[in-house]
Amino acid sequence: MGENGFLCPWVDEAYGGLNADFGYSVVFNEEIERVGSGMVGFGLHNDIVVPYFETYGSDKQKNRWIPKCVTGEYVTAIAMTEPDAGSDLAGIKTTAMKQGDHYVLNGQKTFITNGIHADLIIVVAKTDLKAEPAHKGISLFVVEKDMPGFSRGRKLDKVGLHSQDTAELFFEDVKVPKENLLGDDGSGFII
Ligand SMILES: Cc1cc2nc3c(=O)[nH]c(=O)nc-3n(C[C@H](O)[C@H](O)[C@H](O)COP(=O)(O)OP(=O)(O)OC[C@H]3O[C@@H](n4cnc5c(N)ncnc54)[C@H](O)[C@@H]3O)c2cc1C
Repeated sequence: MGENGFLCPWVDEAYGGLNADFGYSVVFNEEIERVGSGMVGFGLHNDIVVPYFETYGSDKQKNRWIPKCVTGEYVTAIAMTEPDAGSDLAGIKTTAMKQGDHYVLNGQKTFITNGIHADLIIVVAKTDLKAEPAHKGISLFVVEKDMPGFSRGRKLDKVGLHSQDTAELFFEDVKVPKENLLGDDGSGFII
């Protein structure tokens, strides 16, 4: 898909994209569903996750991540939902506590599209446990697949979308460098 220009076609040419308008993404999504592919993970990567990098990433983060998202070298995911927090996102229990030049991430996520294949995962975590209201203490982190303490659980057996991986993810004392904080600390819920 990357070789043929189907990943993140809206991305600027400076990052390897086609600078195409959103209509191109819409047609692409219509066509892969017209054949019943069930591959919703392409739309998630193209039109949900990578736009977070483009909109909220620093220049350094954009240069690090976006070109490889366009080629397909990086598959992305976003991990918000937990076993006890779905619609009520402010009720998440995953934490990322600041320690010097990194954050220590602990928690678990479920129902994550592209969870098994992802190289980069935007993880929603609480960085301020005392924040009132609770949503003000939430931040976003980009976890890379080789970070020690990150592991994947089951690839969930769903009623449909069988070609799409939907998985559980676990984070145990994952040291996430502060360079991987996406947006400002505490801005995650709004983003
Ligand atoms: C195929 C698939 C892919 C997914 N991919 C991702 C992903 O990539 N990343 C990710 O983070 N999550 C993903 N999810 C999870 C999805 O975001 C959650 O399922 C969703 O947020 C709902 O949460 P829940 O399942 O815990 O249901 P709940 O929040 O427990 O809701 C259950 C039911 O209660 C209703 N309800 C909840 N709260 C209220 C309320 N206050 N008032 C009235 N009714 C209410 C809901 O409408 C729903 O009908 C995926 C889910 C599926 C099925």
